[in-house]
Amino acid sequence: MPFSSLGFSPALLPALLRAITEKGYSAPTAIQAEAIPAVLQGRDIVASAQTGSGKTAAFALPLLHQLAEAPAGSPRRVRALVLVPTRELAAQVGEAIVSLAQHLPQRLKVAVVFGGVSINPQMMNLRGGADIMVATPGRLIDLIEHNALTLSAVGLLVLDEADRLLDLGFGEELARLLALLPARRQSLFFSATFPPAIEALAAGMLHEPVRIEVQAAPQAEPDIVQRAIEVDPRSRTQLLRHLVQTEKWDRVLVFVATKHAAEIVADKLRKADIQAEPFHGELSQGKRSQVLQDFKLKAVQVVVATDVAARGLDIAQLPAVVNYDLPRSSVDYIHRIGRTGRAGETGIAISFVSAATEAHFRLIEKRQKSSLPREQVAGFEPVEVQAPSALDPAGTGGIKGKRPSKKDKLRALAAEK
Ligand code: AMP
Repeated sequence: MPFSSLGFSPALLPALLRAITEKGYSAPTAIQAEAIPAVLQGRDIVASAQTGSGKTAAFALPLLHQLAEAPAGSPRRVRALVLVPTRELAAQVGEAIVSLAQHLPQRLKVAVVFGGVSINPQMMNLRGGADIMVATPGRLIDLIEHNALTLSAVGLLVLDEADRLLDLGFGEELARLLALLPARRQSLFFSATFPPAIEALAAGMLHEPVRIEVQAAPQAEPDIVQRAIEVDPRSRTQLLRHLVQTEKWDRVLVFVATKHAAEIVADKLRKADIQAEPFHGELSQGKRSQVLQDFKLKAVQVVVATDVAARGLDIAQLPAVVNYDLPRSSVDYIHRIGRTGRAGETGIAISFVSAATEAHFRLIEKRQKSSLPREQVAGFEPVEVQAPSALDPAGTGGIKGKRPSKKDKLRALAAEK
């Protein structure tokens, strides 16, 4: 089905199609084909949307259409609010909306606000109002408390990555914001997962929603080759260097468990003349934006990141992701590897597995219903074997939920004495 049959009005279709074509989209992804007509009909939607499915345009296009069709209020009040969990996603969604709006007959002002940067420029920018606000919840509340804006004219609300919003502890802020919105409004709810807390949130804020659960369409299905390489922890940086050089990736996103590890690994790579930068939550917002910008422009070859980068980042044509440290859960695994193989491109996701983490990786595989052959790379064959220890009698390698209890630890201490 082409974009032209999704229900856009003839008056706005040419401007939207022009922007869509400039973005290089030839046909709607599955979620766009289902969500756009429903939103244009004024329905609430609840969509289970995976990373890379094209969900941003699935809400941005009909949102722009609704605003462009209705006469703008005066003075400019926020008419559409998009809540997102992270600064990076806010910037990314804001950019997507601006580029899709660029040929519309009326100029729609998009304001993007997030924490971690000075509030003053954001307040100044809001002086003339804004039609569309893309925001993280905490900063939005700050701005409302500073009387920089009101939400009383919001007719359309989008919650993007709702599960992540709750994971990051934004539940209370969300409740406060929802209470400030007009009861009569259209709401669009996107989430990758639907645990009970998310179902409850959706049930509380949606009115007879259209449920959208799309099987990933061929052009949207991430094409990711997953591999697992056995390596001892101490040889990982060397192996990473070797892979960067031999696999000829122009860019690779490497995931580690801690900020400290991100700094150390990036540093070691730099010493080996590889352009590498750490990326984690303790860097200033300016530094984080700079690293992402350089990565997009290919001025940086390797970004070594904590899970801060696992969701929401969209770097076109990222060829490879490496799990230097394994993720804690299979959900995190999916989000990490989703950074590659975006929108029909192929990608490669490599996980480093050691004797100590083998059991944990098997659990991730089991949850994913997959089983990857273990590979070894010549010169980096592991020598370590996992001896069942007193603290880890089951040899689980520290799987979440199977950590030794306090009692186990006391017993182990007593045994050592
Ligand atoms: P999202 O899931 O919104 O983060 O989008 C994932 C990627 O797919 C982004 O790079 C989008 O620019 C791209 N994309 C969105 N819609 C389409 C489409 N209809 N055809 C091709 N690529 C798309």
